[in-house]
Amino acid sequence: MSKLPRAITNLVDKFECLPGIGPKSAQRLVFYLLHHPERELRDFGDKLVALKTEVVLCSECHHVSETDPCDICADSGRDKNIICVVEQPLDVLAMERGNGYRGVYHVLHGVIDPLHNIGPDEIKLNELIKRIEQSKPIEIVLALNPNMEGEATCLFIKKQLKDIKVTRLAHGLPMGADIEYADEQTLTHAMEGRREY
Ligand SMILES: [Zn+2]
Repeated sequence: MSKLPRAITNLVDKFECLPGIGPKSAQRLVFYLLHHPERELRDFGDKLVALKTEVVLCSECHHVSETDPCDICADSGRDKNIICVVEQPLDVLAMERGNGYRGVYHVLHGVIDPLHNIGPDEIKLNELIKRIEQSKPIEIVLALNPNMEGEATCLFIKKQLKDIKVTRLAHGLPMGADIEYADEQTLTHAMEGRREY
């Protein structure tokens, strides 16, 4: 039985490590790349390496950046008394699209997830607590996803923080939602987060 060249099987193994990629997809991707010109593959490889050589985590907020501190932390117009805690760098981008927030961020790079062995030490939680002790902000806004892991993480943070205002984003109904089909928790959060109109 003939075997595939090692360069192919090695790369298939690497693709298989990616989330959502099974053995068949990994093989398809590798054979697809095999037909590309060498210079394009070199460029692809260079960009993979650049992920590590040209991206740093901001030492203040742990957001991905080309500089340390990141643009947001370096911006003197941002209010450092308000720290918005998010799960992932992409959440910072989403919040910034809203354009209304002028505080700074703290990116946890995950949430507490006991089922997958992710505890407080595996994410940037200790860094958050230390940062709060040092910089003494006025308000912490928890902007974590409204699921079990997000709730557990919010609870953990709240327990660690005494004498500081901790708020959460109001989890309400999304635009275009139908109250009739909203689940109980969404409606409860929406009611709790109601504001004067
Ligand atoms: Zn930063």
